[in-house]
Amino acid sequence: MHCPFCRHADSRVVDSRTSDDGTTIRRRRQCPACQRRFTTIETASLSVVKRSGATEPFSREKIVSGVRKACQGRPVSADDLALLAQKVEETLRGTGSPEIDAYEVGLAILGPLRELDEVAYLRFASVYQDFESLADFDAAITSLRAERAEREARAAESGTDGGARAAEDAVAPDGDGAGTSEQPADAVDTDGGTGAAGDEAPVRG
Ligand SMILES: [Zn+2]
Repeated sequence: MHCPFCRHADSRVVDSRTSDDGTTIRRRRQCPACQRRFTTIETASLSVVKRSGATEPFSREKIVSGVRKACQGRPVSADDLALLAQKVEETLRGTGSPEIDAYEVGLAILGPLRELDEVAYLRFASVYQDFESLADFDAAITSLRAERAEREARAAESGTDGGARAAEDAVAPDGDGAGTSEQPADAVDTDGGTGAAGDEAPVRG
């Protein structure tokens, strides 16, 4: 690495420190020519590839802002959201890939959000997974209930009283959850609709 003072082409690492959260390394370097010292920070690159094909650096803030609206009116704190964003980043970095599809980012959000708050999860999932009908909500709720029943059965076995509330208030399909900053602008064309499928229309034979 070039010395930022004299542009000498080389430098020597005199100290290395990993940050508390383990995501960055600070290196103290010394220039063998002018002897001055400087610091470099090393971070594994993690980019998100958007639907448009453009890439942008992964950002926990974007995860938080993308999920926050789905959490409106729910008992979810800023700390909860920060922790969720951290989990998402850990999951994505765990894939070992430097570039992540925006769709994968959404998938990585669903799991921790479901644990955090079921209503917020349903709101987010309905936007992210393009829920189109009550049947989609129904399927998601059925799956939530099945998991909850399993949890409660386990809790009952171990003697605790479970005490979870029913999921009757879970659905809010009023569009209120349409809040992700990464919300797909180009909605998926599922059934062709009017037939005006544009330049992507399959031409066969
Ligand atoms: Zn120098």
